Parts: sequence; structure tokens; C-alpha cells
Amino acid sequence: MAVIIDGKRISQEIKDELKEKVERLKADGKNAALAVIQVGNDPASCVYVNNKKKACAYIGIESLSYELQEETTEKELLELIHRLNEDEKVHGILVQLPLPKHINEDKIIQAISPKKDVDGFHPENVGKLVIGEKGFVSCTPAGVIQLLKRSNIEIAGKNCVVVGRSNIVGKPMALLMLRENATVTIAHSKTQNLKELCRTADILIVAIGKPRFITAEYVKEGAVVVDVGIHRGENNKLCGDVKYEEVFEIASAITPVPGGVGPMTIAMLMNNCVEAME
Ligand code: NDP
Repeated sequence: MAVIIDGKRISQEIKDELKEKVERLKADGKNAALAVIQVGNDPASCVYVNNKKKACAYIGIESLSYELQEETTEKELLELIHRLNEDEKVHGILVQLPLPKHINEDKIIQAISPKKDVDGFHPENVGKLVIGEKGFVSCTPAGVIQLLKRSNIEIAGKNCVVVGRSNIVGKPMALLMLRENATVTIAHSKTQNLKELCRTADILIVAIGKPRFITAEYVKEGAVVVDVGIHRGENNKLCGDVKYEEVFEIASAITPVPGGVGPMTIAMLMNNCVEAME
């Protein structure tokens, strides 16, 4: 039976540390503001944006809300980003994805100043991660590292398999594990013998976007399993990419869904905002 890695508790711990840090920075006359841009009103995006604003309020960061119409043009959005890049009061700029189809997401991400790119998606920050320089790191994978470290799970020297190679999760996740001295393999939809490969992992990190795909057959006895996936099932219940109750029996530690990786993403976003402020 696995130890449950408690993302709710760990994310709260991080937010409390950040709150204290922000109070100290404020006492030194420094204030932080995060610009949160949402285009259209996709219900899932509304929930994420609201949670981000709540987290800002909790730790003492001002959030400036830009709720734009679905019909907003790419040019208008770029103009807003250029204005915010120049605004000294704004430390971080967050554009909630996905954007409507008529707006090129890559163009928007690249328009955000790398110094204000608290999501860590700008190519300059991604490049810094590759060569091991300090820069903003994508929040979800950064959150996974915190979950492992704060649960006293040794990373150095371990075999880690990351399933998924998206720019937002899989790739930065693999680079971060490499930075922590794990031996890393990245698997994707063209990987052969995925089961056998996953069974070599001491730490298995799953970000494939397929509900309950990873069963006990994919997991080595005693492995640590991190489930990044989030899905809402028919009965409105959340589940991950891992068949939790089955894998729980053989893993040594596992992240639940909800309450595992999910809450860490916002905590790490707040961490990036405080870094931008510093
Ligand atoms: P993407 O859909 O962008 O990427 C999925 C990756 O999984 C791709 O690299 C794909 O391979 C790979 N893949 C798909 N099917 C298989 C398969 N059968 N075998 C092996 N690999 C496969 O997803 P994201 O990375 O954006 O997200 C992954 C999951 O994490 C989703 O459930 C998402 O909701 C969740 N998520 C959770 C967050 C959180 O805060 N907890 C934040 C972000 C995402 P290929 O490249 O070959 O197509």
C-alpha cells in the first residue's frame, strides 16, 4: 500500500511561506501585481482564473483582471500585452489558455516579456531550463518536483519515466528530473513496449491525458507514481491518468486526483510571481 503524497497540504505550506515572503517584501516597499488575461468565457478557464485570483489574494499579490470578449483580435491582445510589458507596476503576465481558434497561441506566448512570463512558456525561459540557467519554469512540472522533495523522495540516481512530451508538462518535467540527477526516459504515443518501459521506473510520472490509462501492470512494485492527468468523469467525479485504486496497492507512494499535482500548479504560479517581484 502506498503513502499518499498530499498535494493539498504541500501546496498550502508553499502558499503560507510565500505569504510571509510577500509581507516582508511589502514592508520593504515592494508590491507585486499579476495581470490575468482571459479571452472568452470557457467555463473551465473561468474556474482556473478564479482560483488563480483567489490564490493571489491569499498571499497578498494584487491581481489585475482583463476579461476580454471572445471576438478580441490577435492584434488587440498583442497590444494589451505590449502595454503590460512596459508597465512597471505589473510583475507577471498570465494569459489563460486555450485561446479562441483565431488567435495564434505561440505568437501570444512569445509576445510576453520573458521577465514577466510567470507561466514559464516563453522560448527564452524554456531555453534557460534546457541549459540549466535560472528562469521561470512551467508551473505543473515545477510543482511535481516540490511534491517529491517535500515528501523526502530521493530523485538523484533514480530511473524516471515520464509518459507524455507536451511543451507544458512532459518535456519540462523530464528536464527538471534530469536537473535533479535522475536518469530520465520520455515516452509518448509512438513508444513501443510502454508497459515494460514503465515497469523499469523507480519514479513514474504520467501526463498523457487519458483517463485511468496506467494500470498496475505498468508499475514496478515499490515505485513512486505521480499522476498529472485531470479528467471529469460522467458522474462529475475527478480522476487522473492512473487507475488509482489498483496502482495504490503496489506503489510505495502515489499522488491522488484530486489533491495531488493539481493544487501545486497554482502554488508554483504564485512562487513565480514572487520571484518576478524579487
Ligand atoms: P497533451 O495532450 O498535450 O500531451 C499528451 C502526451 O501524452 C503527448 O505527448 C502524447 O504523445 C502522449 N500520449 C498520448 N497517448 C499516449 C499513449 N497511449 N501512450 C503514450 N503516450 C501517449 O497533454 P498535456 O501534457 O497538456 O496534459 C496531460 C494531462 O495532464 C491531461 O490530463 C491534462 O488535463 C493534465 N494537466 C494537468 C495539470 C495540473 O495542473 N494538474 C496541468 C496541465 C495538464 P504524442 O506527443 O506522441 O502525441
